[in-house]
Amino acid sequence: HGKTKGGNQVNEYKSFMGAIYNELISLESDIIKAVQFNEFYLVYQPKVDVKTNKMIGLEALLRWKHHQLGEISPSRFIPIAEKIGMIHSIGEWVLRAVCQQYLEWKRIGVPPILIAINVSALELQQPCFYHRVIRIIEQMGMDPKYLEMEITENSFIHNPEECIETMEKLRSIGISLSIDDFGTGYSSIGYLKKFPIDYLKIDQSFLKDVCTDSGSAEIIKSMIHLGHTFGLKVVAEGVEGEHALSFIRNVACDYYQGYFYSQPLEADKVMDKLLTS
Ligand code: C2E
Ligand code: MG
Ligand code: MG
Ligand code: MG
Repeated sequence: HGKTKGGNQVNEYKSFMGAIYNELISLESDIIKAVQFNEFYLVYQPKVDVKTNKMIGLEALLRWKHHQLGEISPSRFIPIAEKIGMIHSIGEWVLRAVCQQYLEWKRIGVPPILIAINVSALELQQPCFYHRVIRIIEQMGMDPKYLEMEITENSFIHNPEECIETMEKLRSIGISLSIDDFGTGYSSIGYLKKFPIDYLKIDQSFLKDVCTDSGSAEIIKSMIHLGHTFGLKVVAEGVEGEHALSFIRNVACDYYQGYFYSQPLEADKVMDKLLTS
């Protein structure tokens, strides 16, 4: 009997793995069609000044509403898009969509605000990245001073010199640059003194247990100090409660983002906030 039972378990396992495999394959092929099927859209999460509690910027976050599977999280589909080389055209779609939103808000008289997009390491490393960005910005008529790009530390591991060059060019036309998920990458923090950056974004994992873990609290303090030493503004990600906010206020963090102030919002909702703030 044991044998049959084991056999069934093996079969169940096989069909389970088969289902995962099929879903991955179908996500790979579906992501290629997601743009033309109109399944991508953006949500915007406010960045807030710790001292004044006023919005100082927005982060555009990509959403995928799959025709059959519903909402799929970017943590799941971005790595797939990177693997199959789709990240470049998805990145272009995001940049175009942000420019369009900026111009639409400008047309109807919404006060302008800095909007950040997330740029994958693979995009930044593409030799033609800067030219693609310029072309889109010019085509769309976007003012680059309202555009920010968030990149992760892992972007610097390969070809740091080329990265610096690209970043300097982006910055020379007025685009702001942030290090996203600071503290979680594998690169040395020595890059802070060489790389042209404006903001450090402390990864949300440190904020999660800041009230219970003195280690995280010390790390946050050090990161803020480090950022300020290099003339950068520091943003805390993932501020979910009063305690986390009062902690970062006490240690002179400049800006924050998180559910405590607002979840990422659809364009209309964030527009209402921009109009009333
Ligand atoms: P990220 O850039 O670090 O974005 C922050 C993530 O934290 C977002 O998840 C946001 O919804 C979430 N978040 C914000 N406040 C809180 C909070 O208080 N508590 C918690 N627990 N989470 C909070 P999301 O939108 O699922 O995005 C996940 C990641 O996917 C992003 O991390 C970014 O790395 C990537 N991503 C999103 N949109 C894009 C995009 O357009 N292009 C690229 N290349 N990557 C993107
Ligand atoms: Mg980000
Ligand atoms: Mg982050
Ligand atoms: Mg992240």
